[in-house]
Amino acid sequence: MSASAVEFADWVNILQGTDSHYGFSKGNTLPLVATPFGMNHWSLQTERDGGWFFSPRARKLQGVRCTHQPSPWMGDYGSFAILPQCGKRFLAAGKRATSYRLDKSTLRPYHFATELIQSGIQLEMAPTERGAIFRFEYPEGKDARVIIEPTKGESEAVVRDAHTVTGFTRGNSGGVPDGFAHYFVAIFDQPITASTRFVGDEPVEGEASGKAVGISVEFGAVAWVTMRIATSFISVEQAERNLQLELAEKSFEEIRDEAKAAWNETLGRIQIEATDSQKTVFYSCLYRTQLFPRIWHEVGEDGALRHRSPYDGLVHPGVLYTDNGFWDTYRTEYPLLALVWPDRLKDILQGWVNAYKEGGWFPQWATPGYRACMVGTHIDAVIADAVVRGVTDFDVETAYEGMVKHATQVGDPSGAWGRIGIEDYLKLGYVPVNRHHESVARSLDYAYDDFCISQVAAYLGRTEDAEKYRGQAQTYRNLYDPEVGFMRGKNADGTWQTPFDEFWWGNPYVEGGPWQASWAVQHDPAGLIELMGGDEAFVAKLDQMMTMPPRFENGAYGMEIHEMTEMACADFGQYAHSNQPVHHVLYLYAAAGQPWKTQQMVARAREQFYTENDLAGDEDNGEMCAWFVLSALGIFPLCPGHPSWVLGTPLYKRAVVSLGEGKALTIEAPNVSSEALFATSATLNGSLLDGADVAHGSLANGGNLTFEMAASPNESSLAAPRRPFSLSQYK
Ligand code: CA
Repeated sequence: MSASAVEFADWVNILQGTDSHYGFSKGNTLPLVATPFGMNHWSLQTERDGGWFFSPRARKLQGVRCTHQPSPWMGDYGSFAILPQCGKRFLAAGKRATSYRLDKSTLRPYHFATELIQSGIQLEMAPTERGAIFRFEYPEGKDARVIIEPTKGESEAVVRDAHTVTGFTRGNSGGVPDGFAHYFVAIFDQPITASTRFVGDEPVEGEASGKAVGISVEFGAVAWVTMRIATSFISVEQAERNLQLELAEKSFEEIRDEAKAAWNETLGRIQIEATDSQKTVFYSCLYRTQLFPRIWHEVGEDGALRHRSPYDGLVHPGVLYTDNGFWDTYRTEYPLLALVWPDRLKDILQGWVNAYKEGGWFPQWATPGYRACMVGTHIDAVIADAVVRGVTDFDVETAYEGMVKHATQVGDPSGAWGRIGIEDYLKLGYVPVNRHHESVARSLDYAYDDFCISQVAAYLGRTEDAEKYRGQAQTYRNLYDPEVGFMRGKNADGTWQTPFDEFWWGNPYVEGGPWQASWAVQHDPAGLIELMGGDEAFVAKLDQMMTMPPRFENGAYGMEIHEMTEMACADFGQYAHSNQPVHHVLYLYAAAGQPWKTQQMVARAREQFYTENDLAGDEDNGEMCAWFVLSALGIFPLCPGHPSWVLGTPLYKRAVVSLGEGKALTIEAPNVSSEALFATSATLNGSLLDGADVAHGSLANGGNLTFEMAASPNESSLAAPRRPFSLSQYK
């Protein structure tokens, strides 16, 4: 591959997906300046309050924000904003907001720089894993000032010595233990000449307990101020250690270049031969897959990793990662990590095992601790997928213990851990609609998650358990109603919920209706196809889904939620790519023996839903972008937890995927073009593949996967003679 003049990190548009608001998501992402999986993300604050604190349409900047927000729906924690200022002092976020030009700013994963137009101040910053370096250049003769303001919650900031400010914020959106705090220490290269603590727009003296206290520090008429800042969830002392380890000895350029090198290493693990526009889309997506879950461990005095647990509030040895919604991320993010970043994945998994040990249960949605959001226990799929793909260098035994616990014991009634309706599910084989909210979604998720548990049981040699959970994984059949042709709510007495409306969104489904939810049987496509009347009927139903009007009933929601609007305004029938539940559905065509329809639809979805600037809907911690990355490479994990990939259609003539240990997978499609998007055959290391699926081990060993492309799907050898994902592989 010819060396590119542009480095990988510089293909990234960190604004991709940010032009979103409460009512309509084109990604609901933030422009994040950070190191890969960094403990702190740095973003731009154009609004102080609420989840949508950055808009690319805003013309005024309130500050650079240290943020941990994984989604606007979950909110931020431990956040504070930083802004340089000169001239008349304005403290409150709304009043200090100052004009800047996004289009004239430098926005890279490793570097942000802009001019504050009103004052002429030049602001730039570069990230480390747990901190950042800021450099401010002030106009001549003006008094230099820096403002640090926590965005919410009880907070404090004080001048400790002539060069140092320390503080903390307890601001959070839930999921934190008593005493939670995010500590920071900021060291300035210029001496502080004066300072003012403030709340809102008012200076405060002495105690201001319970208030979000910010600080404004003055430096006199200096040309430059450099600020090194690091944070900790453990203590101020630990924040100082983090600063010493990551920032103290280094110049701005060194820190910026190290962050850039980290991104180049990470992003460079997949190299593509593509147009400039294609590279922008691809690397912007790949960047999104390398941010969550975030590192939550820090380096102790003895050099060993430790973390303050958001689950029990105590400091424990070892790794921890957080900020992840498994309901979304299991589908694509984790399988992608298993293939290309197994070194990172094993640490993340040990982190989730530590979360279980510290809190007693696996989290449902972690940010930073337990949060009740969405359904299922899809951490089962995260763990099973890693195990079957050979990432086993973590405490699998304890992970299994945690999986069995939530599959057998009653968890949190609000759903922050465990499975709501577990007793009924175990007794009846489904969650009854007359007893529990979102019962169809829960039932289908539990069945699939049970398949995932069986995979881990089999790996551990627990044959009886494996059999038992494999049996439970078939309970999805209990909710299929052949009369209506969809998954349907069922009462405890075995009668169907009435009336039935195929366009009804929400309870007993979740963020979708029968059209979007009835395909959630990733672990047994053959069984689902049989239930739905065989290959032809199944394909006809998929075709109908892709082409029918995007009609829906607000149903259980009482208003049109953003996912509905996004489906309505797309051009893809009932295929609501703006949300995760359908993300495997296009690949089900291949499971029904028509891989050319998978290819046709995937090509259409890639084109329609992924541009340099916009995504289809909530990106969700790398998931939506990992869908693109994998679908552009031409492979997809139809069933996370099963050691296989289904073949789609490659977008580039050549892609080289680094697999670690010196191995690489080269994916080639020499005659691919916008007219030739059908893969009519494929060879792996010279051998013709005889179906549309391939074992993980075959790909992960590296070599050459070569696609023959054509403008029409005639005579696709990928369709025959073997059906992918046949049930026999699971028995
Ligand atoms: Ca989502």
